[in-house]
Amino acid sequence: MASVKYIFVTGGVTSSLGKGIIAASLAKLLQARGLSVTIQKFDPYINIDPGTLNPYEHGECYVTEDGAETDLDLGHYERFLNISTSQANNLTTGRIYHNVITKERRGAYLGKTVQVIPHITDEIKNGFYQLGDTGKYDVVITEIGGCVGDIESLPFIEAVRQARWDLGPNNFLVIHLTLIPYLKAAGELKTKPTQHSVKQLLEAGIQPDILVCRSEMPLPQDIRKKLALFCNVNINSVIEALDAGTIYDVPLLMRKEKLDERVLSKLKLPNKTEPDLESWKGFLGKLKNPLHEITIALVGKYTELPDAYKSIVESFIHAGAVNECSVKLKWLSSEQITSDNVAQLLGNVAGVLVAPGFGERGLEGKIQTVKFARENGLPFFGICLGMQCAVIEFARNVLGYPEANSAEMDPKTVHPVIDLMEEQKHVKDMGGTMRLGAYDCQIKKGTLAYKAYGKTKISERHRHRYEFNNQYLEAYEKAGMQASGINPENGLVEIIEIKDHPFFLGAQFHPELKSTVMTPHPLFVSFVGMSLQESLKEEKKDTQKAI
Ligand code: GLN
Repeated sequence: MASVKYIFVTGGVTSSLGKGIIAASLAKLLQARGLSVTIQKFDPYINIDPGTLNPYEHGECYVTEDGAETDLDLGHYERFLNISTSQANNLTTGRIYHNVITKERRGAYLGKTVQVIPHITDEIKNGFYQLGDTGKYDVVITEIGGCVGDIESLPFIEAVRQARWDLGPNNFLVIHLTLIPYLKAAGELKTKPTQHSVKQLLEAGIQPDILVCRSEMPLPQDIRKKLALFCNVNINSVIEALDAGTIYDVPLLMRKEKLDERVLSKLKLPNKTEPDLESWKGFLGKLKNPLHEITIALVGKYTELPDAYKSIVESFIHAGAVNECSVKLKWLSSEQITSDNVAQLLGNVAGVLVAPGFGERGLEGKIQTVKFARENGLPFFGICLGMQCAVIEFARNVLGYPEANSAEMDPKTVHPVIDLMEEQKHVKDMGGTMRLGAYDCQIKKGTLAYKAYGKTKISERHRHRYEFNNQYLEAYEKAGMQASGINPENGLVEIIEIKDHPFFLGAQFHPELKSTVMTPHPLFVSFVGMSLQESLKEEKKDTQKAI
């Protein structure tokens, strides 16, 4: 087999330039040419993984099939490429040092002084190559988090410099993502910050091969020439990355700028066919030309920071396209919702999603939301804590247990309808100890869930410590809330739903983690479809009234 090609993506000037989207877009273009591609991210922070980070710090924590708690960029990789990632796709400084220190304690360094170079950099490089070594990929793209010049990025940049010598020039390529600011007062695009950031890379011994330049304005030829001259790259390796209407446009924008062709030529890969982007374009066509529009309320406690719910937002985009419907999200902070204002806040939405989360803050607002949706036939979708809220609400207002609660919120409650899982009772460490990753679920026929999935055996990803308390299951089922999805091995309730309601479904797992452009998630597709159908009915009623 030909050797694996390694592409490294670094960033300069500022953070938040969208390295993950650029990496995913390039990977998409290479995949569309028949190459097998994966992407990994190296994060320079000291946490072992983002699992213990507050969403305000780091946005959503993305969970992979194998139960790794990872950076949200892995979500973009999966959504763009329709592949599964794993723990190997996301390493942090913390994990690298942890591995090195564990080896040192085992005596693996044979009496040597353990140092950043070579021991930490060797460990980083092991991480660079581990996916390539599986033999499954033609191309491995590695995104280096943070900015060139940050103290904490230094060992990663040094490892990239060394990797060039391990791999050889035709198998190694560096793309530097940078910003070309537009100064309104001067009416000019400025190249200086990019020149400086490339200089910093050069000081670290790395000459970038390709510059991808984020800009609000198109890059004129003279600016491209200047960047090429000062940054020591070929003029056709200066790639413009304009702000896009949707992230899903970026692969096409990169194609227009011939980023994929530059990469193929530098890596000496054949460039015989055009990338096959037909299905991607089909998705974009539907996304941009919706026949309908609906508003869905998203109730959560991190609503000021949409990145905390990244995968949910993207899942709505995928499901909207399938339904040829633009889904507008109305962000509602659960702390602001009370029994007095809930009708007004949810009065004109087509459906409501209650988001995952932890802790008591905002819980009562979520429960008021569920109550309103249940009583008023408003399509409802609860995810993880959102599902647990639906269970608590049903106990309080239908089963007649006003003190019912989750043991997470009230460990002494007399009716712990949501309780700590048996295997969680002795857990002391918080990092990586939840019920994480993919588990099987058996779906009952004749249910909403079955209608959505069209099959009885599914597998979904989890991230929680608490579960539906099966002691109460009979009482729930008698009163009309059904467990329509069950883990076949241990009987844990995975999905609950209510019958006489257009759409009332809660999932203990996280469907949003498996929705991709090419395979939108069936539960999101059904929820959007049903919300649309119900809102069209309402519209019809309104017009009839007007006539
Ligand atoms: N806090 C709940 C639990 O741990 C729900 C978790 C979630 O929404 N991801 O079970």
